[in-house]
Amino acid sequence: MNQIKRILVTGGAGFLGSHLCERLIAQGHDVICLDNFFTSQKSNVAQLLDCPNFELIRHDITMPIWLEVDEIYNLACPAAPGHYQYNAIKTVKTSVMGAINVLGMAKRCRARVLQASTSEVYGDPEVHPQPESYRGNVNPIGPRACYDEGKRAAETLFMDYYRTNRVNIRIVRIFNTYGPRMHPFDGRVISNFVRQALQGQDITIFGEGEQTRSFCYRDDLVEAMIRMMNVKDDFTGPVNIGNPGEFTILELAKLVIELTGSKSKIIHAPLPEDDPTRRRPDITLARAKLGWEPTIPLRAGLEKTIEWFRSIKIEDYRPPTPRY
Ligand code: NAD
Ligand code: UDP
Repeated sequence: MNQIKRILVTGGAGFLGSHLCERLIAQGHDVICLDNFFTSQKSNVAQLLDCPNFELIRHDITMPIWLEVDEIYNLACPAAPGHYQYNAIKTVKTSVMGAINVLGMAKRCRARVLQASTSEVYGDPEVHPQPESYRGNVNPIGPRACYDEGKRAAETLFMDYYRTNRVNIRIVRIFNTYGPRMHPFDGRVISNFVRQALQGQDITIFGEGEQTRSFCYRDDLVEAMIRMMNVKDDFTGPVNIGNPGEFTILELAKLVIELTGSKSKIIHAPLPEDDPTRRRPDITLARAKLGWEPTIPLRAGLEKTIEWFRSIKIEDYRPPTPRY
């Protein structure tokens, strides 16, 4: 039997956070889910509200909060390009002030704190696949900078709290992750393509579709996060978590059409500024330190995701940003 811990999950009502909360609740931990519902809704955690070991707090992580916990997973941050560019200044504040607030709490409580960082710290990478030692190629003044640089600054803060105050930190760099409970209007490529295919709309490929991404299924990702939090030695990371299977966006569109049996046509739209041309994690470190690697290939993960999209009422979700 695991020791029962008090665990705070910021951004806990989101796509990844809600699944993480479910996993931690099932392990018997006392879970506090903190969220301001900017890119999520309460329905993501409605199934947990009756659990005696679950607590939901509506709070904005840019504001300090006083809680007593043993572990913190810091996920609060808009993650999809349309969401994080909606209010770019707020995105930087969420990453930076959010990091300061959870690190302060971790320092006071002597809690362990894990930062959900991102492959975006590598920007448009010149090294392929990307190992953790690669320092990246980020445009600090472009439209993606609020997210990329916010997350880079958060990593800096985590390392400085570790070096200065010995706060027990963990950093994971998450590569594109998908699965049930993605916001249907978040504008990310998988939610867009699946929604478009199921509604018989044109599938919008930005640019020629030759850019690549590596897609990790949600359950694999959350398993790696929990392993990283619980890793025994003094391993802070950063560690890449993602699925090394690499696909062009055109290949993804064709696969979604095949799996949904859709009659949707592929159309092309302009490529957004600074859109990374390729992305694939080197997961050597995760394999060695966490004994982890993804188990769910893209086709199987997409089938589960499509099944979930078929089961929801899309009208229940409001399009939160004009860019999708
Ligand atoms: P998501 O948008 O579904 O979840 C983010 C959650 O944070 C939402 O519930 C949102 O309401 C909440 N939030 C945003 N700003 C907040 C604030 N100021 N205060 C409190 N809550 C706030 O996205 P996700 O995909 O679940 O991402 C979770 C985390 O993982 C994010 O930090 C993201 O940067 C990181 N990440 C995700 C991916 C991915 O592909 N899913 C890739 C890299 C990194
Ligand atoms: N993309 C696309 N059509 C869409 C949405 C996204 O072609 O409807 C492309 C986008 O330009 C990018 C890739 O898919 O090259 C992944 O985009 P996403 O927003 O999911 O994530 P990120 O760019 O942050 O990896």
